[in-house]
Amino acid sequence: MLRSIQLIESCSGFFFHRLKLHYGISFISISGKPSSRTPMLTVSRLSRCLGQFRASSIRSESKPDTTSSSTSSPSAFKSIGATRKINFCQLCGGPTKHEIPDGDEKERAICTLCGKIAYENPKMVVGCLIEHDNKILLCKRNIQPSYGLWTLPAGYMEIGESATEGAIRETWEEAGAKVKVISPFAQLDIPLIGHSYLIFLAKFTTPHFSPGPESSECRLFALDDIPYESLSFSSMLITLKLYIEDIKVGKPKFHYGLINKWPGTGPSAIHAYDFDYHLRT
Ligand SMILES: [Zn+2]
Repeated sequence: MLRSIQLIESCSGFFFHRLKLHYGISFISISGKPSSRTPMLTVSRLSRCLGQFRASSIRSESKPDTTSSSTSSPSAFKSIGATRKINFCQLCGGPTKHEIPDGDEKERAICTLCGKIAYENPKMVVGCLIEHDNKILLCKRNIQPSYGLWTLPAGYMEIGESATEGAIRETWEEAGAKVKVISPFAQLDIPLIGHSYLIFLAKFTTPHFSPGPESSECRLFALDDIPYESLSFSSMLITLKLYIEDIKVGKPKFHYGLINKWPGTGPSAIHAYDFDYHLRT
């Protein structure tokens, strides 16, 4: 359930519960000119890690992108690359100044009225890779961003739950499927946008699924039929590729790596990344 997130830390609990992932607020613009990225193809580190699939693509993204800051950024925030510019205090609503606090190393938004310092930390996204009869369950997104594209059931981990509980909950909410977690499969950090994905291998407890409100369809795909050109996020592309690579040579392993999204690219530009520091155990 990777729904659009507004990242308003001061919002109500209910509202926050409904906030979901959206790269857009982290980017000022969208690069639709892959030619400028072409040189990176020759040094794709993922190619070296995974052998047969490249981290980068020279093709243009044909899907509409929703990462325009004008449509996704709350007015209180202004995208400044990897971080947002917070203009108002999340505690009292007062205006902020942007300075490096004493003893700190990074510029923060500091309230000019109450002095509260706004610290921003990465978000954990949890989800399940469910295999059943040599097929994988995917959900077609019924929401933006990446409307109409396929994803593993996943979403933000909530306060008060464990990572596995969050992954199971998201699977239930998005796919109407009850599952049990088998093992961790991949942790994929995306430093540019402050997200860390933790995807678990899981199995149905009952072989039933149906799309939740944020999915228009749920379907089991044979490994050879994964719709790679219609996936929603780079993290999903990498997760599925890693899984299939593992299956081809034996059984799934655990993977850790960094997804370095190209600045200026949005979530639908799923090939616009380099995959670094890939550890496979
Ligand atoms: Zn304040």
